[in-house]
Amino acid sequence: MAEERSVPTPGSFEEPYRVARLRRRTSVIAELELSPLHGELDYQAGEYVLLEDDRGEVPPRSYSVANAPRPDGTISLLVTRVPDGETSRWVHDRLREGDTVRLSGPYGTFVDDPASTAPALYLAAGSGLAPIRALLEAGLRSRARRSLTLIFSARTEADVIDRALFERRQRDQPSFRFIRTLTRGPGQPPHGRIPALLPSTYESLADHDAFIAGAPAFVVACAAAATALGARRERIHTEEFFVEPQPWTDEPPETGERM
Ligand SMILES: Cc1cc2nc3c(=O)[nH]c(=O)nc-3n(C[C@H](O)[C@H](O)[C@H](O)COP(=O)(O)OP(=O)(O)OC[C@H]3O[C@@H](n4cnc5c(N)ncnc54)[C@H](O)[C@@H]3O)c2cc1C
Repeated sequence: MAEERSVPTPGSFEEPYRVARLRRRTSVIAELELSPLHGELDYQAGEYVLLEDDRGEVPPRSYSVANAPRPDGTISLLVTRVPDGETSRWVHDRLREGDTVRLSGPYGTFVDDPASTAPALYLAAGSGLAPIRALLEAGLRSRARRSLTLIFSARTEADVIDRALFERRQRDQPSFRFIRTLTRGPGQPPHGRIPALLPSTYESLADHDAFIAGAPAFVVACAAAATALGARRERIHTEEFFVEPQPWTDEPPETGERM
């Protein structure tokens, strides 16, 4: 995988934000638009933040910022509802527009070199689109790269987040290509998972930078498929949305068992 940048000091920033907008994007993904109440988070596209409520009632969890930095400091997050998940269910079921939340960060190593001119391939599924959308926004803005391709994997057409936005970008910027693939529902091709689709889309990825984000199994499978097409390990950048370890309640678990 890619050479990693040093991780910023945890807690380098913590500020309250107001929930300016809360939208349901798919049956399981909500998008939060957060406006800074005081200071603004100084971050790079691709980084993530810790989100928590302002009373400390839900555990802080990591969420990737879904937009490149904006002058007004707005931050978007795409949050997938996890069955039995404490913080994601709080976002989906209890959080309301106008509420105050706390963000800390930024954290992470999933960032881009703004001067790179190499072709970029962005692979995402579900809320893995969050950091990819931020990187893509920054990449399209800088216009440095020769080409940028987003392949987004969704179960059905209804799960294709921001289709209109990406189709518009594709019309406006000839260097950008948008491909959505469906893993379940009916619709125009392509169908199937990204690792199966890549060999029919690319002969070689030897000169590409690849950015992959989402559930760990998705990221691992896509990285393996990119490697098989010649992508160099140091140019494959990944962000795995693993579930954070739970605090011990009674006894520590047996080795290998997830808490
Ligand atoms: C770098 C990074 C970026 C991320 N970005 C995003 C993002 O942009 N969008 C997004 O939606 N998610 C993202 N995630 C995942 C996110 O941080 C949370 O892990 C996710 O939202 C689940 O949190 P939760 O509090 O809802 O669930 P949790 O309460 O942590 O529970 C998660 C699962 O674990 C199970 N569980 C809970 N307690 C136990 C226990 N004691 N033993 C066994 N199992 C248990 C639950 O049943 C549930 O199924 C990211 C993760 C990382 C590491």
